[in-house]
Amino acid sequence: FDVIIIGGGPGGYVCAIRAAQLGLKTACIESRGTLGGTCLNVGCIPSKSLLNLSENYRKAKKDFNNQGIEISDIKLNIKKMMFNKDKSVQVLTKGVEFLFKKNKITYFKGKGVLVSENDVIVYEKSDPAKRTNIKAKNIVIATGSFPTSLPGIEIDEKNIVSSTGALTFSEVPRDLVVIGGGYIGLEMGSVWSRLGSNVTVVEYLDFITPGMDREISNEFKKILTKQGINFKLNNKVTSVKNEKNKVVVEFINNKNDSKEKLECDKVLVSVGRKPYTEGLNLSKIGIKKDSKGRIEVNEKLQTSIKNIYAIGDVIKGPMLAHKAEEEGIAVAEILAGQSGHVNYDVIPGVIYTSPEVATVGKTEEELKTENINYKVGKFPFLANSRAKVN
Ligand code: FAD
Repeated sequence: FDVIIIGGGPGGYVCAIRAAQLGLKTACIESRGTLGGTCLNVGCIPSKSLLNLSENYRKAKKDFNNQGIEISDIKLNIKKMMFNKDKSVQVLTKGVEFLFKKNKITYFKGKGVLVSENDVIVYEKSDPAKRTNIKAKNIVIATGSFPTSLPGIEIDEKNIVSSTGALTFSEVPRDLVVIGGGYIGLEMGSVWSRLGSNVTVVEYLDFITPGMDREISNEFKKILTKQGINFKLNNKVTSVKNEKNKVVVEFINNKNDSKEKLECDKVLVSVGRKPYTEGLNLSKIGIKKDSKGRIEVNEKLQTSIKNIYAIGDVIKGPMLAHKAEEEGIAVAEILAGQSGHVNYDVIPGVIYTSPEVATVGKTEEELKTENINYKVGKFPFLANSRAKVN
């Protein structure tokens, strides 16, 4: 092949399609069994499906009667809702597989392991004893990331779950504790709060959504509180334990050392994600990682081995699907002799709650720290006629 891509998420599959479109003989290896990576299978897409469906439910239950749409006896059918979410995922992952066929990309279903600068072994998913050796001029690592936990807290994906488990609850938890007030915790917290859970977010910092302007973060917290989400800010979780039919979460206040305990049915641990490089054989072939476990790349996305590139969540930068996709396109273009590049200053970030919250570029706090002159412009959404009508 001209290029082998390891990982079929937004970084890998977009890179594969662009490389094939530019005339490169392309292979993509994916171990999951379906294409689309974290984003399509257990991330962006199923979470956005549940955000949409739960928002419809909330509106029907809370808003419709006041709006002159009189309906009664609104019931939640969680099984059907989950079926709809799964169906969306299935259609979209199959859609990527169709695009692979259309663009004549060779798709290997299995785990890719690097053996040299040009050689990869694929251990087939259906039978890991079965191996295929493949060779390419260039290799792209797009193996993504996985959810992390806190020391001593074990995710069982039953009662103590990561975002993956929180996308598949078979009933609405009466009490849900979310550890971490980042975008994944707040999106999933909103879903279950709208469906009837009593949601409490425990956050180590004294504000939510780190990485956003503090002013936005404060306003956003007020809105979510009004919607019924409870916040315990400035608290460090010290233990999470399964006890009989309950989970007990203990935390300690960072300011006054006071201890608190919450009993709940489910705990969502959403404290971040780590780059996934397990079993790739990186150190053996000399690919360097930084102190956070991310593969080191230069501005052309080359690793410490020139013909091996890395993109997406497995390298530095925001862990976002569109960032991974842009890097995938840039690498494909570089390999085809063009001048692909990514402008890291203009990557937007969106939290798909209600209202949705979006940012792009530096925060006001960053501008202050970097001593950059700036002007503040504000316009209240409620003064916009369309927004007011809605
Ligand atoms: P991934 O999508 O993680 O794909 C990597 C793939 O590589 C995986 O499928 C894995 O199975 C495969 N793989 C790993 N090792 C091997 C190997 N050795 N051989 C073969 N295959 C291998 N981002 C947004 O932009 N917007 C959102 O709204 C959004 N919502 C999210 C919601 C949740 C709940 C989560 C968890 C994430 C969300 N994200 C969102 C983040 C987004 O999913 C990631 O940034 C994106 O998927 C990263 O793409 P990637 O291609 O780098 O990695």
